[in-house]
Amino acid sequence: MRAVTFQSPEQVRVEEKAEPELVAGDDTIVQVEASGVCGSDLHIYHGRVPVEAGFTIGHEFVGTVLAAGEDVQRVAVGDRVVGCFHTACATCTPCLRGDYHRCANGQTFGHGSHLGNLQGAQAERLLVPRSNLTLRRVPDSVSSDVALFAGDVMGTGFHAIAHGGMRTGDTVAVLGLGPVGLCAVQSALAGGAVEVFAIDTVAERLAMAASFGATPLHLTEQDPKREVRAATGGAGVDLAVDAVGNPEPLALAISLARDAGTVSGIGAYSGRAEIPLGLAWLKGLDLRLGVANVIAHVDRVLALLEAGTLDPAPIVSNHMSLDDAAEAYGIFDRREALKIVLTP
Ligand SMILES: [Zn+2]
Ligand SMILES: [Zn+2]
Repeated sequence: MRAVTFQSPEQVRVEEKAEPELVAGDDTIVQVEASGVCGSDLHIYHGRVPVEAGFTIGHEFVGTVLAAGEDVQRVAVGDRVVGCFHTACATCTPCLRGDYHRCANGQTFGHGSHLGNLQGAQAERLLVPRSNLTLRRVPDSVSSDVALFAGDVMGTGFHAIAHGGMRTGDTVAVLGLGPVGLCAVQSALAGGAVEVFAIDTVAERLAMAASFGATPLHLTEQDPKREVRAATGGAGVDLAVDAVGNPEPLALAISLARDAGTVSGIGAYSGRAEIPLGLAWLKGLDLRLGVANVIAHVDRVLALLEAGTLDPAPIVSNHMSLDDAAEAYGIFDRREALKIVLTP
């Protein structure tokens, strides 16, 4: 079968790989109908996340169950399913607490041996372990494009809001309007935010956030801090989300949050950083960080997608063939696409 493999930094290739086979009783084989190219795939593409040459990448997929082990109960052969971007065992201590994102035995699709050695989803078919937890049936009325978001990007945007403790009537700021930031905007509005300030430098992304119902603020052509203060009676927002994962937006999020408010950092931070920790302390902020607990949210996210309350369809900018993966990564890396869906 054909699969997209990492070769070396800035080099991905479509290769012929062996067919996946069932191993454990709760494994399934899924025929991929759509897979996403994600911001976190760029970390692999640039060599920042180490992946072995020849490893199949990709972690977002919708497809049809082709084969299922004897212990798979929650999905069946023929079902159209969406996969979460990682697996969880359901029995370790973090899983028993519901912290599936910190599962001691979890594997992330398409991230090489250092994240569980699980081949990726940018392929014709893939092996899905722990299928009872990893997979969900997709409601008939939900397109594969839209369902694809439940397993990672919308789940992550949703997590930024849910883990940030947002309540109906809150004000929210979202910094960074990539797919996750745009999904956080939708999740905040769906959750009853009274106003969502959407901050970025790209006009098209600001316009899309505005079309969802947010108040767009240009990071450099406007003064987001002044605008947010003016609109909130000088207080700042109840919840500020950094959907970028860099010290600068995190620092701005700290300055935009109200006293005793919350900052939710959903981007992938790395290393050490200089942030205004004194200001965060003085304000009594709640700082909530980390990768999203997508498995914990996936049923609610799918329900909201089915209801149409969340609708990430406008975020999909490009449909491309799996065979054009190298071109897709190039386009995505040059920020010429917002979200690319690959079809085998
Ligand atoms: Zn992703
Ligand atoms: Zn576990």
